[in-house]
Amino acid sequence: VIEVINVKKSYTLGDMEVPILHDINLTVWEGEFLAIMGPSGSGKSTLMNLIGFLDRPTEGKIIIKGLDINTLSDKEVAKLRGLEIGFVFQTFNLIPRLTALENVELPTYANTREGVNARKRAKDLLKMVGLEDRMHHKPGELSGGQSQRVAIARALINDPAILLADEPTGNLDSKTGCEILSMFTRLNEDGRTIVMITHDPEIAKYADRIVLVKDGIVQNNSE
Ligand code: ATP
Ligand code: MG
Repeated sequence: VIEVINVKKSYTLGDMEVPILHDINLTVWEGEFLAIMGPSGSGKSTLMNLIGFLDRPTEGKIIIKGLDINTLSDKEVAKLRGLEIGFVFQTFNLIPRLTALENVELPTYANTREGVNARKRAKDLLKMVGLEDRMHHKPGELSGGQSQRVAIARALINDPAILLADEPTGNLDSKTGCEILSMFTRLNEDGRTIVMITHDPEIAKYADRIVLVKDGIVQNNSE
């Protein structure tokens, strides 16, 4: 469902090109739960942004559900991302002045599936993550684990085929982390493809397969 082919990514700092990803090749199968591990600064979040169509590669191809990002306009990319990809960020990225419910609903303002009642679905998702009673609270009034669960509900609002999660348990205690992982396992069993970044081997165990990003390449890409 996701193919990353000979992808390079560099950032320009002033007039310098800084290569981060040298040559990434990775296939994520439909319905798979994949964990990506690697040292801090190895480019895991960079890779996740590329897979999530938040950024374009410097070189190489990224194909999601048969569509090559290089052939799509920014508008087409935004639509595909909005409907097919759910993101859980390393730092939650909730909007402080919106309530939990509004945060979950937010992606539907730009992209929405036909016939879906966004408000009802947002409420159902918050119920699913155990935050029915925190719906009208703002992120500042929520704990880290609760914020992360709001972020997960938001990632699922458009019923995406693919869930990308960057250190979804990085800011959580191990008990809350386990709860989040059980939730991911359930979502995966329901047929969703999950790609999760983690530095924690205990957390990576929940995945079907682990790949290691190091020195700008995927080290053990066993399929
Ligand atoms: P961590 O485990 O600490 O989250 P990571 O593997 O996710 O690390 P990235 O965030 O992908 O690492 O960053 C990889 C490298 O790219 C780092 O050296 C970082 O400084 C650099 N980098 C990331 N984003 C940018 C940017 N927008 N501009 C320039 N350099 C960047
Ligand atoms: Mg990162």
